Amino acid sequence: MSISPLAGASGRIETGAGAAAAVIRARAAEWDAPLVEDDTRLTLHLWGCELRLIPDNPGARVEITGAERRLVLTLQDSATQMLADEGVTVAWDSVAVGALAPGLALMRVVSARPVTPGYVRVRLTGPEAARFALGSLHFRLLLPPKGRAPVWPRIAESGRAVWPAGDDALHRPVYTVTDQQDDWLEFDIFRHEGSPTCDWADRVEPGAEVGIIGPGGGWCPDAHRLDCFGDETALPAIARMLGLAQGSVRAWVRASADDLGPLALDPRVTRCDDLLDALGAIEPDEDCHVWFAARDDLARAARRRLLDRGLPKTAFTAAAYWSRSAGPAG
Ligand SMILES: Cc1cc2nc3c(=O)[nH]c(=O)nc-3n(C[C@H](O)[C@H](O)[C@H](O)COP(=O)(O)OP(=O)(O)OC[C@H]3O[C@@H](n4cnc5c(N)ncnc54)[C@H](O)[C@@H]3O)c2cc1C
Repeated sequence: MSISPLAGASGRIETGAGAAAAVIRARAAEWDAPLVEDDTRLTLHLWGCELRLIPDNPGARVEITGAERRLVLTLQDSATQMLADEGVTVAWDSVAVGALAPGLALMRVVSARPVTPGYVRVRLTGPEAARFALGSLHFRLLLPPKGRAPVWPRIAESGRAVWPAGDDALHRPVYTVTDQQDDWLEFDIFRHEGSPTCDWADRVEPGAEVGIIGPGGGWCPDAHRLDCFGDETALPAIARMLGLAQGSVRAWVRASADDLGPLALDPRVTRCDDLLDALGAIEPDEDCHVWFAARDDLARAARRRLLDRGLPKTAFTAAAYWSRSAGPAG
């Protein structure tokens, strides 16, 4: 059996070890992440990594290990940030200064073409394409402001990724990988008013550079039965889950019949106009996971209804995919 080598980062806190422990305990509670504490150390388990705080009078050692370097560097970035917010500085033993932010891949546009009246399909190519089809369904698309050369986020000496701000700030919407093979991946953009991403897709030329960061945001829930509810923005994720689900799966989608594409012929899929009405009509049982994704207020209403019906929080997902003000709320 082959064991994947561990990636790691380590550093030292000279002052504020007590405050560091308090921050880590608070984050573990907030994120519902396992925390193990004994006389010698405090260990947080997050994103497939371990973050250890080991008292070393008068300060403490910080160690991060994990199977995936990207996630170790992401946790290093987050830990540096959350400790700095409380006035605690970590002096890392080594930092990949100048490297692209963890999880960021620079890709090239192959094509952006309409596939149905409501969707534009974008294909990107790059050597890291395959990792965006593993473990999580989603990624953030990083778009520089129109007419400006991209400034990508890079790791600074502190261990934190520094993101461009002001005139160079990136637009960072979340999308779902719909297909991935060889060195390419595809995603579908739902057309709507006032969308910087749709504007980009309408004008982008093949060969243009674009950044994507991730993957993130979860995988298909593991359940005996999966009932999915979603609007146009959730249709790509639902299409993936119809293919990935291990048990039986049904879907209610609020989208036009033309935009359902081949799913219009799938007997597991029902088109609907009101997702909350459709949700009210099903009978979830203990073997079922209910997955709901749409505008933020509908996701909140779905969450309330499912809790009122006695579903435990672990038996459902209610995700805000966009909001009336701007961007994904997730
Ligand atoms: C996990 C996850 C996965 C997602 N996957 C996809 C996907 O595969 N395909 C996809 O199309 N979307 C997807 N979304 C939703 C997408 O991220 C948002 O719609 C996002 O706002 C799009 O960015 P934008 O540049 O179009 O608009 P923004 O700059 O974010 O917003 C501009 C304006 O458009 C409005 N707006 C945003 N979305 C919509 C909408 N759907 N209908 C009407 N008005 C809207 C905003 O309220 C705002 O006024 C996903 C979101 C999440 C959280």
